[in-house]
Amino acid sequence: MGYFRPAIEAMTGYVPGEQPPPGTPVIKLNTNENPYPPSPQAMAVLHSLDSEWLRRYPDPYGREVRQAVSQGLQVPEDWVIVTNGSDDLLNILIRACAEGHSRPVAYPTPTYVLYRTLAALQPAQVIEIPYPENYRLPLDELVAAQAAVTLIASPNSPSGHSVPVVDLGRLAQRLSGILAIDEAYVDFADTSALELVQQHANVLLLRTLSKGYGLAGLRLGFGLAQPELIAGLFKVKDSYTVDAVAMAVGAAALRDQAYKDQRAKQIKASRTRLIRELRRLGFTVPDSQGNFVLATVPMGSAQALTQALKQRGILVRYFNQPGLDDKLRITIGTEAQNQQLLEILQALLANAHSLN
Ligand SMILES: *Cc1c(COP(=O)(O)O)cnc(C)c1O
Repeated sequence: MGYFRPAIEAMTGYVPGEQPPPGTPVIKLNTNENPYPPSPQAMAVLHSLDSEWLRRYPDPYGREVRQAVSQGLQVPEDWVIVTNGSDDLLNILIRACAEGHSRPVAYPTPTYVLYRTLAALQPAQVIEIPYPENYRLPLDELVAAQAAVTLIASPNSPSGHSVPVVDLGRLAQRLSGILAIDEAYVDFADTSALELVQQHANVLLLRTLSKGYGLAGLRLGFGLAQPELIAGLFKVKDSYTVDAVAMAVGAAALRDQAYKDQRAKQIKASRTRLIRELRRLGFTVPDSQGNFVLATVPMGSAQALTQALKQRGILVRYFNQPGLDDKLRITIGTEAQNQQLLEILQALLANAHSLN
């Protein structure tokens, strides 16, 4: 007998983006972190915590975070589940709802690769439906799949497009399973599907503090859905996966919406400038609703360009898969970081022979 279940033997593990230790002198534009620090109010709470917070088990219900979410988004507290990042909630969702061929997982591609990994772990059958070139939601195909869990990232990564809320509403209406809308990048977008949670009992909205709030290292996320759905997910959640420090600091960050909004505004302004300048250098760059852009390289190989940038201290994300292998996903950095990226790109492209 092998050590592992056949599903584990057969799968490839998720490969996270490179995470150099803090203090490494790199410009890190590869995993969509916020380039700005978290709210000073959140940092003040972090510094005020004493040993009692570590001695005791954390609140398994995440009440302080639920309360902050409830106040910020005007939803009742029992419509909120608090998790160890939204990856934890994705894991809970798949474990709770998907299984084998009778309860498949469906999603349009390209999207967040973790969806496939989590389904493979379960294991649950995966139905991947490619987006058309214009990134319209493949509504009929997703409905035809009738998956136990349908996952839509909006804004989507790595494409950067948002799915219109009306399309998500139509999808929710026509699915008998759960529609999970992953809003990891909602803080940089013009729209949210929050209203669908009120309108549809099968909609789960996933949010995280990793991107908009600059707290990727803290590991805090939450889900919004009607109470029956939340209660089912709660059965699968381990009691103490969200630690006391994360909840206290995260709740403070959630209460400081003004700070988050101001940073998001800055990043969106930088996004506009970065897209314009990349286009000027010859990249093909669609508009983005996230804190990143997906840029098709004007010449040479995207992989070689990724390596050349890395040698010069800039990390970007390259996906070695069809449809993405001529593109770079670049996180929006600070103005100074974006400027440095542009200067190095310009120099590299001027020496295009070095990029093959
Ligand atoms: C970053 C990201 C997440 C993960 O967020 P965490 O809360 O850090 O686990 C989930 N979904 C998408 C689409 C993401 O890009």
